[in-house]
Amino acid sequence: MRVYKKEFERLKNARSIVRSRFPQLGVNKKQEITRLLYEISKKDAAPPLSIIPDLDSNDFNKAKRLLLKRRYPCAHLANEISRPYLPKIKLDPSAILDLKKTRFYPKRIFVERSALRSRLANRFRDAFPEAESLEIKSLKDYLRKNRTFKIAYYNKRRDTVFITEENHDFFKTCPCTKKAVRCGYHIFNLSFGCIFECTFCYLQEYANSPGLVFPANINRFFKAFPSYKRPRMRIGTGEFSDSLMLDHITEYSLEIVDFFKKHKDVFFEFKTKSTNIDNLLKIGHAGNIVIAWSLNPQVIIDGNESFTPSLKERIEAARRATEAGYKVAFHFDPVMYFKGWQKEYEKVIGLLFSAIKPKDIAWISIGTLRFNPRVKPVIEQRFPANKLLDEELLPGFDNKLRYPGRIRQKIYDAMLEMLSRHSKNLRVYLCMEDASMWDKFTSASGGCKPLPLVLGRDNIL
Ligand code: SF4
Repeated sequence: MRVYKKEFERLKNARSIVRSRFPQLGVNKKQEITRLLYEISKKDAAPPLSIIPDLDSNDFNKAKRLLLKRRYPCAHLANEISRPYLPKIKLDPSAILDLKKTRFYPKRIFVERSALRSRLANRFRDAFPEAESLEIKSLKDYLRKNRTFKIAYYNKRRDTVFITEENHDFFKTCPCTKKAVRCGYHIFNLSFGCIFECTFCYLQEYANSPGLVFPANINRFFKAFPSYKRPRMRIGTGEFSDSLMLDHITEYSLEIVDFFKKHKDVFFEFKTKSTNIDNLLKIGHAGNIVIAWSLNPQVIIDGNESFTPSLKERIEAARRATEAGYKVAFHFDPVMYFKGWQKEYEKVIGLLFSAIKPKDIAWISIGTLRFNPRVKPVIEQRFPANKLLDEELLPGFDNKLRYPGRIRQKIYDAMLEMLSRHSKNLRVYLCMEDASMWDKFTSASGGCKPLPLVLGRDNIL
């Protein structure tokens, strides 16, 4: 709450300065100047008043230009501030997420009528005997009667689990992002929502369910798969959830690994930040299962991935997976830009290769921080002390907020160079970048082999 008070005070000061110095401005212009003052003050740890002593209050355009230059110095130099995103700023104490580490223990388990006797429903009831178990006609029906999008409710979604039957939405090609080069990934659309609370998570704005959703009928996915299958495709869970976060309860991995023994020409990927791999370690696999971890420096994990295992724990889990004969993959995603970022990522890469042999790595992706602009006010309200929004994030080629192009390129070049010090035979790809960034990346690939743009075109393992 102390953080909220500090940020609320900052916002109050910024608003009052704008009211007294720019009384003639309309609502929208006042809003823009207020946001810029607030953001600069937060980023530079300077009182809002110290930021505008020389601003000419009669010239809005000039004042805005000066503030933008200070707020986005790198983008200003590269002439990349044509469309800054400056919505009204709002802070609300009821929207702040309580970051005390708590064990996941839902209060309610809603089960669709058709899944009442399912094994999955029983496993959840057994794992959480104190949770209330309730029957619902269907999730769709429940949402029709109870739908609400308030951030405060989103913060409570870990209290609620839905056990459903999925009948339609089994697989899809990864939607990627507008105008980006696609990596050809396919989504096995199993479960929705996550118990981890990453500050940057796009689900904060995207999720419209007041709980975590787990289908009880994975067999329907398997039945539907042969007609969706493409040879040598790469498919996986973990797009709208974390693949393994509750695998000790769902036991999805046991059935998936068993099923994909019959489809050896397909790569199945579990994407996770967890270390919940005991099921995978005890089951035999056919060599086409890839377990992937998303990695970040510990300082970023501490500040942004609150309920997840540490970097060392993730790498140790990956090492154990390779001992069991699994291929592993790593997603440097989102790579965060901050003072000292390069040294921190160098440490992560060093730690990774001290435990994992390059030959066991199926692929590595790199993607810098980006999100839909609608996520920004959600992050501000849920995590008022966040540092990630202090960096320069502006609408990019796909209208998502991104670092300026020259920062992203610097990151990709440096990451490739650091990776290639450990092996020249890594398969590396960019996540959600446009063709021009890909071209620069391919020509600077430092000996690493960028993946073919459509996986499956070549033999990649
Ligand atoms: S682990 Fe992934 S899905 Fe879960 S909160 Fe973090 S970013 Fe979102």
